[in-house]
Amino acid sequence: MKKRILFIIALIMIISTIIRTLIVGVSFISFSNHIIENQTALIADIIKEVKDKNKFLTLIKKSGPIKNIEILPGIKNEIIYDMKHKIIVSFAPYNQVNSLKIEYVGNKYFQKFSNAIIQLITIAFISLILIILIVNYFLTPYLEILEKIKISTEKILNGNFKYKINTKLKGEAKDFVHSYNDFINKLDDSFGVIEKKYTSLIEKPPGKNPLVDAKETIEQLADIFKFKRVIEDDLNEQIILKRIITVIKNFNIKHYALIGIDNNEKKVFFSQNEGDICCDIMENPLECRAYRLKHPINSRDYENLCAFHICKNEYFCIPFSVEGNFTGILKIMYEKENENILKNIPYIKAYLKETSSIIESKYTLELLKKQSIKDPLTTLYNRRYMEEILPQIFASAKRRNTKIGFLMIDIDYFKKVNDTYGHDAGDKVLQTVSNIILNSIRESDVAVRFGGEEFLIILTDLNSKEDLLNAAEKIRQKVEKTKFNAGKETIKKTISIGASMFPDDCQKPWECIKFSDLALYKAKNSGRNRVIVFDEKLKKEANY
Ligand code: GH3
Ligand code: MG
Ligand code: MG
Repeated sequence: MKKRILFIIALIMIISTIIRTLIVGVSFISFSNHIIENQTALIADIIKEVKDKNKFLTLIKKSGPIKNIEILPGIKNEIIYDMKHKIIVSFAPYNQVNSLKIEYVGNKYFQKFSNAIIQLITIAFISLILIILIVNYFLTPYLEILEKIKISTEKILNGNFKYKINTKLKGEAKDFVHSYNDFINKLDDSFGVIEKKYTSLIEKPPGKNPLVDAKETIEQLADIFKFKRVIEDDLNEQIILKRIITVIKNFNIKHYALIGIDNNEKKVFFSQNEGDICCDIMENPLECRAYRLKHPINSRDYENLCAFHICKNEYFCIPFSVEGNFTGILKIMYEKENENILKNIPYIKAYLKETSSIIESKYTLELLKKQSIKDPLTTLYNRRYMEEILPQIFASAKRRNTKIGFLMIDIDYFKKVNDTYGHDAGDKVLQTVSNIILNSIRESDVAVRFGGEEFLIILTDLNSKEDLLNAAEKIRQKVEKTKFNAGKETIKKTISIGASMFPDDCQKPWECIKFSDLALYKAKNSGRNRVIVFDEKLKKEANY
């Protein structure tokens, strides 16, 4: 900067010296022309007046240093001067017949002119040096301020707001420096506040450059905010967990596993993974260190932290939504060299943190919904759900022209279990029978706890009464073969089953239930531990 200013000043001085030299040169030329003309005229006059040659020459010589005098024939009255060779030649009439050619050794006016130019240049050079010294003296403190501002801005761009500038100058320059420092202080304060705010939202150590850091973090926070708004409207936790997978992929993570655990049943209900995850814990999440401790596990913190991680790669396991009915665990696995992934961990954690409350409420809602349609002791559907689902099952069977089977099941002499072994043993028998039922039917079938120790099974997509009978027999036989735990003893139990089928026996849901109940009544009365399929005779027997 300083060099540039001094260079410009020197250039201006040189150009102005050249211009001034030219002006002086031109005026000298015209001045010397004028002198020479006068001199030549003077010589001519001398020639006319003086007849004595010696006297004449003496006079001539006085007019300047003469190199040569020549007498030329004819009269010429002209002056030729050659500035370039510093020789001036003039002709003047002599004797009225000849002309006199006088060659001067040099032009004393030209000499004067060159001296003047040299003086001019010397003065210009001295004044240039003086100006440079003066400018340097007065300009340097201002230039220093500019230099410091340049350093300060570079530091700010690298995130350093601590560099302050100072000056010895007073007045406006001092005020300017103060205002500039105030401005930097304010920037420092603002970024400090911004950093504090976002570190409370994203657990992230402050980066090297707050400018870059703030931009990146605010962008991520905006994305997290958008994500949160989207998942708030998602239907259930499964959809939200799938969305988390999309986020993980967007962070360019290739090896991950995401599992959802039901904290009440201690079971994995959601599990998705990609790439190598080197984890054999999936089936038994209760052993998982991150799940147990409810805080993230970083393989870099200590050697072999997780006993279930079965390869040498690094991992990061983040549990989220750790309180309540649901817990999610995200495992990220990466090669040792790929440390870049760690940079994104705070953002991923922030996504999961924001997801936690939403996913927990969705999960709890789902759970309540499930609980409201299921019997808590047996986990079979309750009658309320049965009433809700039956019209749909009938509509579907009619549309697809298939049959629906109804099995009304009652445990034989169940009261005896309660009376002999206690209510808890009775409950266990109910649970075991329910499990037998659940393991004997297809997913599309519906098993309902119809009453105390009565169950109704709705079998969909049947082709014939034979199918119905086979299904009923299978369940009856399984129960018959089962040894039930009753306190320290094991006991045997049997069941009676009444069966009916739509559309062969009945047309409406309530009718089918009624007719299977009539068949069950018959099974009980004809000795128990048997299956009776409804037929029209039963109606008469029951005075229906
Ligand atoms: P039957 O062969 O004629 O069906 O005889 P039963 O003893 O099975 O029939 P009953 O209807 O007399 O007895 C049913 C008993 O089931 C009465 C009731 O106390 C018991 N019970 C109903 N619900 C539950 C329950 O949730 N847990 C237990 N432990 N017992 C229950
Ligand atoms: Mg019974
Ligand atoms: Mg009963």
